Amino acid sequence: MKFGTKVIHAGVHPDPSTGAVMTPIYQTSTYAQEAPGQHQGYEYARTQNPTRTALQNNLAALENGKRAICFASGMSAMDAVCRLLNAGDEVIATNDLYGGSYRLITKVYERFGLKGHFIDLTRPENVLEKLNDRTRLIWIETPTNPMLKLVDIEAICRLVADREVLVCVDNTFASPYLQNPLDLGADLAMHSATKYLGGHSDVVMGVVVAADDAVAESLYFLQNAVGAVPGPQDCFLMLRGIKTLHLRMQRACENARSIVDFLSKHPKVGKVYYPGLPTHPGHELARRQMRDFGAMISFDLVDDSMEKARQVLSGTELFLLAESLGGVESLIGHPASMTHASIPRADRLKVGLTDSLIRLSVGIEDADDLIADLGSALDRV
Ligand SMILES: *Cc1c(COP(=O)(O)O)cnc(C)c1O
Repeated sequence: MKFGTKVIHAGVHPDPSTGAVMTPIYQTSTYAQEAPGQHQGYEYARTQNPTRTALQNNLAALENGKRAICFASGMSAMDAVCRLLNAGDEVIATNDLYGGSYRLITKVYERFGLKGHFIDLTRPENVLEKLNDRTRLIWIETPTNPMLKLVDIEAICRLVADREVLVCVDNTFASPYLQNPLDLGADLAMHSATKYLGGHSDVVMGVVVAADDAVAESLYFLQNAVGAVPGPQDCFLMLRGIKTLHLRMQRACENARSIVDFLSKHPKVGKVYYPGLPTHPGHELARRQMRDFGAMISFDLVDDSMEKARQVLSGTELFLLAESLGGVESLIGHPASMTHASIPRADRLKVGLTDSLIRLSVGIEDADDLIADLGSALDRV
């Protein structure tokens, strides 16, 4: 099955009790048994829920994995992956990492004896500097936030292929429409399904897809044992959102291309960061590793000041000033004062995250309206 068919059909079947085409919201906490231990595969809703089962089977197919395990948020999905490790184990992660992922490793798991190393993975060989007998997990994010750097998944997997190291890719920014980490050798693909998978800014959820049955089984154990499960209503909304993933991504990528074209020529705009630009250092890798270049764009202003950036951020009407990404509506954000405010300015500048850097999550509106909106905000600066 091809991707556009899978989003609609994989894992979902007409409901056996009524023939309902859409998987019902099984809003129940428990299931009647005919005799003790004699049931239809469903005992208690933390352990199994049919709406969640359909969603998990769908997501496993989208990421070409064996099984998918859903969690109450992207962070609880990552938490489950961390719980596969033991005290004394070490994690190597991208240094340009989602803030919550950095926080989970350093503020929660380091208290339980895990050790995190945060390094520049845009050069895969950098892994070797921190790799040792205690390394159990490599955590990759690509494209990264907000600098949209590319990390070579296949090259990193090759470097650790003969070791007992799990490679997990946070695939949130790409979505399975653009990139399938398991096909490139990763063991796990993780998503904040809150973003592109859900796509309508109305659900918080996470998922981990495993390439291997044994790892999947351990994650299933943790899903039930720890209990951070998503509710059936949210699973229904996620299944519904995913049905248009391919159409939304296609349109969002097209819009992003038009906006990058506009920004690149604008006299007030400084650098534009987008993997689709031939001048982007990860462009060739993006062509190999992704099917298109995504809908996240960062840019800064020629006149690099916090104040000027704030004027642009307050000046758009269609682009809403908000955290998050991946919804049908376009969002605008200011990493230096929002998502990355906790990083010291000198460190931010080292990676190119200037005071005026602006991040766009391009939605699926009409590109002309989005460009006009950005244009008038830039004109007023
Ligand atoms: C949002 C996000 C997360 C966290 O997911 P939640 O659903 O908010 O818990 C993790 N990684 C990336 C890249 C994200 O954008």
